[in-house]
Amino acid sequence: MVKETKLYEALEVDPACSDADLKKAYRKLALKYHPDKTGGASSAQFQDIGHAYDVLSDAQKRQVYDQYGEAGLSGEAGPGGMGGLSPEDLFSQFFGGGGGMGGRGGRPSGPRRGKDVAHGLKVTLEDLYKGKTSKLALQKNVICEKCEGKGGKEGAVKTCNTCHGQGYRIILRQMGPMMQQIQQPCSDCRGEGEIINAKDKCKTCNAKKVVSVRKVIEVHIDRGMKDGRKIIFNGEGDQAPGITPGDVVIVLEQREHEHFRRVDDDLYYNAKISLVTALTGGKIHIKHLDDRVLVVDILPGEVIRPNELKAVMGQGMPTERHHDFGNLYIQFEIVFPASNWTDAKELDQLRSILPPAAPLPELPKETLTEEVVLTEMDPHQKAKAERGHMGVGDDDEEGGHPGVQCAQQ
Ligand SMILES: [Zn+2]
Ligand SMILES: [Zn+2]
Repeated sequence: MVKETKLYEALEVDPACSDADLKKAYRKLALKYHPDKTGGASSAQFQDIGHAYDVLSDAQKRQVYDQYGEAGLSGEAGPGGMGGLSPEDLFSQFFGGGGGMGGRGGRPSGPRRGKDVAHGLKVTLEDLYKGKTSKLALQKNVICEKCEGKGGKEGAVKTCNTCHGQGYRIILRQMGPMMQQIQQPCSDCRGEGEIINAKDKCKTCNAKKVVSVRKVIEVHIDRGMKDGRKIIFNGEGDQAPGITPGDVVIVLEQREHEHFRRVDDDLYYNAKISLVTALTGGKIHIKHLDDRVLVVDILPGEVIRPNELKAVMGQGMPTERHHDFGNLYIQFEIVFPASNWTDAKELDQLRSILPPAAPLPELPKETLTEEVVLTEMDPHQKAKAERGHMGVGDDDEEGGHPGVQCAQQ
């Protein structure tokens, strides 16, 4: 006694019918309801017949269905469950495939799309400023011209009978009350779905259907493009029979620049100027990304303070649409005189010119005071003091924890 009869009803057969009866029934109904015959989209009947035959023509699936009904078949994607064929593929397989009514590969969803391949392309900030065309050599698979992607001589390529060209087989395994379905690569065709006799194999591609070629592509880097920008070459990915090649995606990776830092369309530049320039004005040179030298005028009397940021408008990066430029921001580092001032007369001169220092606050009369002097430190001591100043603390470079040392003594 079978659990359900829906699939048998779809094929208008008795649940006790033979394989030959199933085949006959499917042939008759599939031809009757095929979209090419009915002159329209795939009808519900055609789908139902296909699904019913897909299940019942497989001894194992039929066994599962008889025992558990449709519920036993669920668990895998696809219209037929259990990774079954679409009604169209089933039909073409049943009637010999290739050509005619919706041959193999005529899946309703269209051909499969290959993977996109991404490549990084290192560029300099100069490249992004001026624009550039880079040639890039890629290794890619193309359809073998000799066998036109068939893998062998005309007629030598046969669909594998064991897996009917699927390249895999469904194995059922009992897991408690449920049947677990496992896909295994077909051993007869090694998962290829087809069999080619050794002597008929294409020598050019060794039956792989594709050959690897070197292809040079020209990447146009437009002025103003940014780090991470993707440039897409449609359909330049690997070719393979029955698939639409994916894209080659070139991703720009900007190398760090020695002097400029880019943020959006603006450039940042650190300029070192001497104390005298900061106080009395002068000129600095900035070599730009197109080798122009910007002569920057620091006006006399315009005091530049340490870390002060000033802008040069319109001297940043070009914007990608070329209508505009970002700004150049200059941050100033003031270089103080390297040597100490020893001439008392000069010090007096400086004191007379520079604004007076802020006066010390008045101390209460009873305050206890002590005069101390500043000392130069040796490099080791200085490094330690700097770490402490930054809040990093001592990293025990003397070896061991001070507390531990005490305990050992
Ligand atoms: Zn070939
Ligand atoms: Zn096979």
